[in-house]
Amino acid sequence: MATYFVEWNIELDAESHLEAAKEALRIQRDPDSIATIFTVTKPRTGNNERIIRVIDVLEAEKEDNRNEIRDRLEYLRGEIEAERISYGELAELQSLAEHIDPGDVLLLEWAGVSETREQFYECGICGAFHRVGFDGDCRDDRERFATVPDGAEIVTMEEIEKEDLT
Ligand SMILES: [Zn+2]
Repeated sequence: MATYFVEWNIELDAESHLEAAKEALRIQRDPDSIATIFTVTKPRTGNNERIIRVIDVLEAEKEDNRNEIRDRLEYLRGEIEAERISYGELAELQSLAEHIDPGDVLLLEWAGVSETREQFYECGICGAFHRVGFDGDCRDDRERFATVPDGAEIVTMEEIEKEDLT
């Protein structure tokens, strides 16, 4: 434990000093307020130096939350790989689907997220990738990709032709 000096500042328009203070208090007490940035000073360390940090509590909490979800997803992945995921855990995985990385095929599949991966094919003419269905000019820069985005699928011309026949 240590003693910290915590500062919170806000700029606002008001009719008087008192009104400004009242408004500041109202904002401080508002649980939805985004004025959550504090300057925190640890006045005295061993060699008498001050350590100052600017902390956004809201952001820190969001980050904590993200880390918790990531840890949870890794735990669920372990359960899947060990082939012992329960129905309860499967439901939990589905509830976390929006937090799964788009390229994380295993978790998405288990979360029951339907496959909406964009498909690309390697162009035999220009050597770059085009979106499946693109049938335009290779010189169109917006439709010519050196690499495909994360989570996208690369299909061969044969696969596309097979799809077309069915
Ligand atoms: Zn091309």
